[in-house]
Amino acid sequence: MKILIKNPNVVSSELEIPKVLDVLIGEGKISEISQNIESPEASVIDAHGKILVPGLVDVHVHFREPGQEYKEDLRTGSLAAAAGGFTTVIAEPNTIPPIDTPTRLRRLLNIADKKSIINFYSKSAMTKGMMGHRLADIVELKEAGARAISDDGNPIPGHRLMRNALIKGKEGGILVNPHCEESAFYRERILRQREKCGHQSFCLQMPYSSPGGGPYTSEAGFIKRDIELAEKTEARIHISHVSLAKSVEIIADAKKRGVKVTAEATPHHLLLTERMAKEIGPNAKVNPPLRSEEDVLAIREGLANGTIDIIASDHAPHSPEEKNRHWDQAPFGIIGLETTLGLVLTYLVRPGILTLSQAIEKMTIMPARIFGLNVLGVGTLRPGVKADLTLIDLDRKWKVDANSFYSKGRNCPFNGWELHGKAILTIVAGRIVAKEGEIIQDNQ
Ligand SMILES: [Zn+2]
Repeated sequence: MKILIKNPNVVSSELEIPKVLDVLIGEGKISEISQNIESPEASVIDAHGKILVPGLVDVHVHFREPGQEYKEDLRTGSLAAAAGGFTTVIAEPNTIPPIDTPTRLRRLLNIADKKSIINFYSKSAMTKGMMGHRLADIVELKEAGARAISDDGNPIPGHRLMRNALIKGKEGGILVNPHCEESAFYRERILRQREKCGHQSFCLQMPYSSPGGGPYTSEAGFIKRDIELAEKTEARIHISHVSLAKSVEIIADAKKRGVKVTAEATPHHLLLTERMAKEIGPNAKVNPPLRSEEDVLAIREGLANGTIDIIASDHAPHSPEEKNRHWDQAPFGIIGLETTLGLVLTYLVRPGILTLSQAIEKMTIMPARIFGLNVLGVGTLRPGVKADLTLIDLDRKWKVDANSFYSKGRNCPFNGWELHGKAILTIVAGRIVAKEGEIIQDNQ
């Protein structure tokens, strides 16, 4: 079936400035982009006044399958993505069990082929069992399809291990994607090591400078260490969910020195503060935690000036029962696939923090490039590539209602917010999968 999208304002990295064009889709691909296309057999979508962009890409999501399907699964995660305008996601490997062997990765990708209505990719664990002791077989994992290696939720404790991961990553063309954050797992490990070896050897290698110390020291400390190791090994490194002004500074300095580092920020770290978290409650409990107003401003500035390359949601669903617990008992995480675009348009593009083109690039071509998906046509809008497209209505006003989400998670700190701008059509491989935020076609 052919689809002709008439007169949208096309925003993509192929065009220097947004331009009103027609886009013809046939056999799952973009067949033509130009003015005044005629195609009598195509079904026509009048997109006058709307924005057409390459399908949105989110390189940091948790779909919880296998192991915690009560929180989310490959099906519901993909529905949430499609409803929010995303056509491609990359999942984190911290499932139960973690994705740390080629067999597990292949099995996951096979299941996703059947259950996901969007393009699903996965990272693999950096270390076996995500335990931070021994590297996983990362070359084999890359061959099995891993888009990057990440021990989501845990930084890599030892210097030497991180260095080896970077050397292997460079040799095998694998993106190393550390999670530079404080984690309970890591804290316990330090305490155990301290008991074993005293304060002098192993522990002092760790960039956890204040004993029992604050998250501030650990995020920026890990980023600094990992960037310095990437610089020495000349490896490529991508930093997840940057949350501190100090981290932005370290990354900016590294970029000036020519280190091959890229970074991402989440909507919640761009829009919410720790003070707001206290008012919102456990739905705003997340790792890295929400920070000060100064930090939020620094993240926004870093995003605008290119220090932070991309926006990623870190969509992390939990069951309402888990998130309704007392703050101390509730798990970390915020969902984001169904709110990210609206939040970015309302709070970053409308006030002029990012231009529309900048925002779209940070959610399409740039994440695709960092994770090597651009070579498959992801994040691009040109004839011959797979027709993954998102049509956006910048004028659409809507109210966030977490109860209406396709995600199983309800842990959304933006519930009730009024947003301005929405994905009104999501097209995957030439097929309309969501319209007006509703899933309209089921490929199962
Ligand atoms: Zn994550």
